[in-house]
Amino acid sequence: MISYVDFRKDILNKKTNTVDFVKSIFIKIEEKKHLNAFISLNYENAIKQAEESDKRFSNNTPRLAEGMIVAVKDNISVKGLKMTCASKILENYEALYDATVVTKLKEAGAIIIGKCNLDEFAMGSSNENSYFGNVLNPLNEDYVPGGSSGGSAVAVAASLCHISLGSETGGSVRQPASFTGLYGVKPSYGRVSRYGLTAFGSSLDQVGIFSSNLEDLSLALDIISGEDEYDSTSVKKEKLDTLSYLNNIDENEKITIGVVDEELLKHSDFDVLEIYQNAVAKLEKAGHKIVEVEFPFSKVWIPTYYIIATAEASSNLSRYDGVRFGFRAEVEEGEDLIKLTRSQGFGAEVKRRILLGTYVLSEGHHDAFYLKALKARRVIFNNYKEIFNKVDTVFMPTTPSCAFKFNSKADNPIAMYMSDFYTASANLAGVPAISLPLGVNNDNMTIGMQLQTDNFKESEMIKYSKIIEDVLGK
Ligand code: GLN
Repeated sequence: MISYVDFRKDILNKKTNTVDFVKSIFIKIEEKKHLNAFISLNYENAIKQAEESDKRFSNNTPRLAEGMIVAVKDNISVKGLKMTCASKILENYEALYDATVVTKLKEAGAIIIGKCNLDEFAMGSSNENSYFGNVLNPLNEDYVPGGSSGGSAVAVAASLCHISLGSETGGSVRQPASFTGLYGVKPSYGRVSRYGLTAFGSSLDQVGIFSSNLEDLSLALDIISGEDEYDSTSVKKEKLDTLSYLNNIDENEKITIGVVDEELLKHSDFDVLEIYQNAVAKLEKAGHKIVEVEFPFSKVWIPTYYIIATAEASSNLSRYDGVRFGFRAEVEEGEDLIKLTRSQGFGAEVKRRILLGTYVLSEGHHDAFYLKALKARRVIFNNYKEIFNKVDTVFMPTTPSCAFKFNSKADNPIAMYMSDFYTASANLAGVPAISLPLGVNNDNMTIGMQLQTDNFKESEMIKYSKIIEDVLGK
């Protein structure tokens, strides 16, 4: 994989220049076309921006992320490029403005090379729900890359960019990061602006980052975070500076790590369990304090997530009606335009979610499902608050299994939904979480473990990640 930190050193040592590097990336993208990581490319603009970066490097005025090559999930707006959300309904839709995260990256000198494949409207865990076809896992092409940000993960894992942006509603960055051997972060709810991110479950959604190392991830996170007048749910905080935490680690610092009990671990496959337990033993031996934490409501994590996410999705997706924008069905007289457009424009999983969401919000079921789920969410949040009074960070598997083969879960939505078992609770509670690549199984498929911290403690979380990684090795 390629790292921005190394690239920047190479530039300063005159080993490469941005234009040549960007060109070499596009050649690689062409070679790896069969992985299907990208839906569209931004060749001309990228070269233009690279020329600008080279000028700035030679004038000694490079910006923070000068020449950083970034791939963007295709549910995030980049002005002038198509934004399909991997759906037929937006197949020809062109974004009219930049998402705030994109503006910030561009202003820092980053180069957007293209838009990445995903599960339609970010709904899925395997990238098998894209209108533009499956994305293949570069570690083994018979396996899924995870989802919904599968294309963004593969773009980094196959060395087609330095970092990529994904989105998280219930684990869509952490899970594919685990399946492809990457770092994947979901910030606290409100840390990063959602302006320009296509809404799925608005109270859960956050933009996240994939990278091959912690430095690149920190740099990008510091750049994209911050309050934004265009997103009233973004929160005013002191400027995030995770990079300085990462660069100032006290080697002797010991932390209190919350580990999970058997009840939670019974969801894990043996290979995941083995790596987890070995990691915990090594961390304890290295002098960190290990405390078992309890999640008595873990049974309701997935049901609560799928009720709230689908309820919000059914409302958010009502805007795709064939009138305002996107695909419009051909109708004969007497036919219903909206019905036909939505029937033809959405794929099966999106329809399933709209149906489920409409049902849980409907009169007669609203109290039993939706209101109940909101109450459960509060209980889950309180549970986290209590836990973070006792420990610095919670450490648990990112996913119950390693990457699985294509079609192994596609016909079984419940099995597919269970792959979010360890991730969705952080979205429900709004806490930040990061998946670290901490092992491989006998088939050489990667396994990620995640850290979660209290709200808005991203800097500490990155620091703990480094401390833990130093003990466990990569
Ligand atoms: N796999 C989860 C879902 O399908 C998470 C999706 C996401 O985080 N965007 O809802």
